[in-house]
Amino acid sequence: MLILVTNDDGIYAPGLAALYQELRDLGKVAVVAPESEQSAVGHAISLSTPLRVKKAPLVGGGFGWAVSGTPADCVKIALAELLPAAPDLVVSGINLGPNVGINVLYSGTVSAATEAAILGVKQAVAVSLNAYKDADFATAARVAGRLITRMLEQPRSEPLCLNVNLPNLPESAIKGVRLTRQDTGRLVERFDCRVDPRERVYYWLAGINDRQGLDPDTDYAALEAGYISITPLHHDLTHYPSLEGLRGLEK
Ligand code: MN
Repeated sequence: MLILVTNDDGIYAPGLAALYQELRDLGKVAVVAPESEQSAVGHAISLSTPLRVKKAPLVGGGFGWAVSGTPADCVKIALAELLPAAPDLVVSGINLGPNVGINVLYSGTVSAATEAAILGVKQAVAVSLNAYKDADFATAARVAGRLITRMLEQPRSEPLCLNVNLPNLPESAIKGVRLTRQDTGRLVERFDCRVDPRERVYYWLAGINDRQGLDPDTDYAALEAGYISITPLHHDLTHYPSLEGLRGLEK
């Protein structure tokens, strides 16, 4: 089995190293990841600049490809040029920080997985950890590895693109696994307004994960309650209920 590992935190991120180590038990692992951090670039691709690709040594041995682009770029160039064959599985992560609710749309981690699905990869998984500091990637990688193994064992006909979010807890403290829907509620955002050393005002988006009034069946709520959240994703953004109501526009 050929596995492509990528991320949005950059090829030297500890979350990617942990995932790489873990997945090597499952098959041949190729790493193609951004050369610098690309968090929150969403599904951006590079059109006005070329992609430079460099070999990069990986923690645990071997080499990966560092790409001067976005996570979606990495998946595209991996499949088109760098890998010896189409991957059976693409795993993106492990991201430092959760990707639940509306953040799924901003996430480079998730976009790498959806890009894989768009390109016909049958199994794509984005993995994110609910921590910005003191992240236990060793535990997260072990838990993710087991989940992915179970996913691979399940028979199914549909391609699979999963958004997995892991609590940053010891394994014994994780409450279980919840299949969830993506929360769509508005984030409680604010901008920090600061003054730079030249006395010019600047702004910095803060509170990127604040959310109130959660529905219990959502990714957000499951993760907050200490469960592993698994949300199946699809890149079709059509709002089907609106289709019928808009038929009059066709006349
Ligand atoms: Mn990130």
